[in-house]
Amino acid sequence: MGYDTKYIFVTGGVLSSLGKGLASASIGALLESRGLTVTIQKLDPYINVDPGTMNPFQHGEVFVTDDGTETDLDLGHYERFTHAKLGQDNNFTTGKIYFSVITKERKGEYLGGTVQVIPHITDEIKDSIRKASNDVDVVIVEIGGTIGDIESLPFLEAIRQFKNDAGKDNVIYIHLTLVPYIGTAGEVKTKPTQHSVKELRSIGIQPDILLCRTDRMLNPDIKAKIAMFCNVGADAVITAKDVSCIYEVPLLFHQEGLDNKIVELLNIWTRAPRLEDWEALCRRMGEPSFDVTIAIVGKYVDLTESYKSLNEALIHGGIPNQARVNLKFIDSETLDANTCNQSLEGVDGVLVPGGFGARGVEGKICAARHARENRIPYFGICLGMQIAVIEFARHMAGLDGADSTEFDSNTPHPVIYLMEKWFDDKSGTLQQRDVHSEKGGTMRLGAYPCKLEKDTVAYRAYAAETISERHRHRYEFNNAYMEPLKKAGLKIAGMAPSGELVEIVEIEDHPWYLGCQFHPEFKSRPMTPHPLFRSFIAAALKYSGNREIEKQ
Ligand code: GLN
Repeated sequence: MGYDTKYIFVTGGVLSSLGKGLASASIGALLESRGLTVTIQKLDPYINVDPGTMNPFQHGEVFVTDDGTETDLDLGHYERFTHAKLGQDNNFTTGKIYFSVITKERKGEYLGGTVQVIPHITDEIKDSIRKASNDVDVVIVEIGGTIGDIESLPFLEAIRQFKNDAGKDNVIYIHLTLVPYIGTAGEVKTKPTQHSVKELRSIGIQPDILLCRTDRMLNPDIKAKIAMFCNVGADAVITAKDVSCIYEVPLLFHQEGLDNKIVELLNIWTRAPRLEDWEALCRRMGEPSFDVTIAIVGKYVDLTESYKSLNEALIHGGIPNQARVNLKFIDSETLDANTCNQSLEGVDGVLVPGGFGARGVEGKICAARHARENRIPYFGICLGMQIAVIEFARHMAGLDGADSTEFDSNTPHPVIYLMEKWFDDKSGTLQQRDVHSEKGGTMRLGAYPCKLEKDTVAYRAYAAETISERHRHRYEFNNAYMEPLKKAGLKIAGMAPSGELVEIVEIEDHPWYLGCQFHPEFKSRPMTPHPLFRSFIAAALKYSGNREIEKQ
């Protein structure tokens, strides 16, 4: 690794939700556009070892990497904006750091020393940063939380020390702050930024660049004022103006001179940035020819952050179809046989996303039935596939009371169940689990291969025989019901190579009805929209066109 690797630490001030994740991802995109290789790491100050067991209402989506790590949703931004390969070394929490230190202490690795925050916790943090540093030119490290939080102090101390270890030319600090416009005063205010930087400097970190989140472009006077109070150059004060489309952020940062400043400060020589792809993307997204509306029938509809990757993947699916994708979130608890018609009126596609627990399941089953009977494109993801199988079993295969054992352990027809033994194609080993297995760590997680059947929607979309997709679930399709379901018209479109795990189901004689046991949304990028989302949106467009014709 050596210390020629360059490090950019991104901290946030004033308040949360300023878009530190997007800013870090955009910095990555800009550096890649100059021909540099990057990786991005998130350090989260909370105590959970990983976000896998956290409630999506509180924490938003759990993003899953190829290696099966359950991570923070910001890693989704990093993957969508860059080519960085992310995994277990790209997300560390206080819990993970302490867990490692305490495990070492129990093993006696500290040789009887008193184990302390400084140096033991801070050393562990610095080691974790170095772990993510393999073979890249620049490592971008985002520190979660806001300056001033008690729990982020060990991380800030560690990154302060890091500059001394790695050398002054190799480390810069970028601070994202807020510059609000105050209507009654008729001007933008710099005081919150001054305070936030003061706080940062009081713990020994002098930011090199300030990203100022604001609703308008900052004029040179304001920039000069911020520069003077915060002890940075005026050209290091960057306007991070609100944008309507997140993929404009790298372009905006570039116009403000951010990437130039970064390479200057880090003393890196690079080619000029090539941003044509990003420009073309924003142009295409800004001038859609069509509109489609997709209903997302789920549980976390009040917090759309819970479906971050899904929302993005749907938008990506619209790009090659020249379509703007409008999302209509529907709380599945409000759906039943009577309300479905009205709630799903005017939508061009129905998507049931992943989820856990019995709440709202019957409403989702109604939505799946409605889509099947009315020939509306249906896309079931993970739980959404299981819902499709249950609905089909109950209403097409005559399996009354069919269910998943997750929701009804006494169902007469457990079409979805906990598979106690299966051959795991990823590890090449036999896996076992039962209802008593612990909740954490018993899921099928991360990338698994899947073989596609020819002459299916999936095969046509992927144009490949074997694919790899990411999983995060405990329950599986029950092969004991394969024959009766097939006989009733369910197609098994994809299976694990071992032939034991059903990965994709479709319905014959429906324009587009597909359920997949994996989460395709995690692998969709704006430049390379996921094939299933592209195909689903194409089907929704077709459906919407037909609906228009019927109306006339
Ligand atoms: N609850 C289901 C399972 O555990 C589906 C999980 C999901 O949708 N991610 O199998």
